Amino acid sequence: MTDDGILELRDLLQKHGTRRDLDLHLVERVEEAPALFQAGLVHRKWAVVADETTQRLAGTYLASALNAPLLRIPGRAGGAVVAGRAEADRLTRQLQTSGAEAVVAVGAGSLNDLTKFASQQLGIGCAVLATAPSMNGYTSAGAALLEGGVKLSVPCAPPRITVAPIGLLCQAPARMIAAGYGDLRSRPVSGADWYLSHRLLGTPYAAEALGLIDEADRVAAAAVDGLATRSPAAIANLTTGLLLSGMAMDIVGTSAPASGGEHLVSHYLDMFHFSCGGPHDLHGCQVGVATLALASLYERLLKIDIHAVQAPTHEPWTDLAERLASHFGPLWSAVEPIARQVHGDDEARQDRLETLRLGWAETTTELRRILGPNPTCTEQLQRAGAPIRFADLGVSPEQTRAALLHARFVRARYTVLDLAAELGLLDSWVDDLLATSHL
Ligand SMILES: [Zn+2]
Repeated sequence: MTDDGILELRDLLQKHGTRRDLDLHLVERVEEAPALFQAGLVHRKWAVVADETTQRLAGTYLASALNAPLLRIPGRAGGAVVAGRAEADRLTRQLQTSGAEAVVAVGAGSLNDLTKFASQQLGIGCAVLATAPSMNGYTSAGAALLEGGVKLSVPCAPPRITVAPIGLLCQAPARMIAAGYGDLRSRPVSGADWYLSHRLLGTPYAAEALGLIDEADRVAAAAVDGLATRSPAAIANLTTGLLLSGMAMDIVGTSAPASGGEHLVSHYLDMFHFSCGGPHDLHGCQVGVATLALASLYERLLKIDIHAVQAPTHEPWTDLAERLASHFGPLWSAVEPIARQVHGDDEARQDRLETLRLGWAETTTELRRILGPNPTCTEQLQRAGAPIRFADLGVSPEQTRAALLHARFVRARYTVLDLAAELGLLDSWVDDLLATSHL
């Protein structure tokens, strides 16, 4: 890529990283990483965390350069590493035994989440060497951990130092690169859900975070055509977009700015995969497809006559719980407290609907602005090589329907899925969506 192009991206990362005391380095080669880690967290006894693949890619080299022990995280059942509570606790004990004062994760989502969590438990320095531009969690203030069958978002500080070597990131599997783009494409829907929650529930909202996500979107949009061919410029743009987007979550202390109903659908698929062997794909691939579905629900929402809608009466908790217990099966004990919170009380629900009716014009104007002119556009995902249909993820129409109807119960986060349900429209909209779109 041109020197000007990479300098602009480095300036952006430095500007936004410095504000949050994070060192973000977009470099050409892995060999530049050890000096950057040592300069950022001086006089430290390091440990390096990797899995079988990332050990080979850069873990062994980095451990040798930092004169550090290499802690290898095994995959589950011979497969990929899972960011689960058991793995996180095991890594915490290993790090404690090693006496490390700082730790660097060599990997992407799962390894970074495990290392963020373990380092926070021990109060030691944390850094990451990014190996794939596959998700925006590198710089986010939280770790997604699977516990009791549920994906929990555990608050913890982002790595103090992130080094993203473009040469290594260009070698990431094509599906992981496409997943990174899919994760960023959630912006119209996650932004709209975040605003909706603020408007109807008064949850925190910060224009600064939305501005950062827009900047991430702008940078990544420049990448779309070069991702399939792994052009270094495109990979650098995508990586920068992901690092900026992750920081937006830090601003408000929740993942809400970049994680709405589309992420709930992805978490739902993850949960059924890990508990019952359901279909599954990379986080960002699931998020990209779910974004298209939720954007279609927003299209329907923006067309309704809110004053003509007769919201159904609030379903008694016992009736809902019976239905959900049968649907979630072995996951129910973990889901129940969250579902109870989502169900809430009738008074709060009536207040929300009243707020919606009174401020309908203003709310829909802002939602249209956030969603942009064409939020259901599949073309960019396709150009980036990302899946665009649930079938591409191995998810059947019945499983898609179930996911869209039940995802709202896996995390207490108000989204268009909740609003559609409260208006009594979710079932019919999902049926219509499945009958009329190619999802
Ligand atoms: Zn995500």
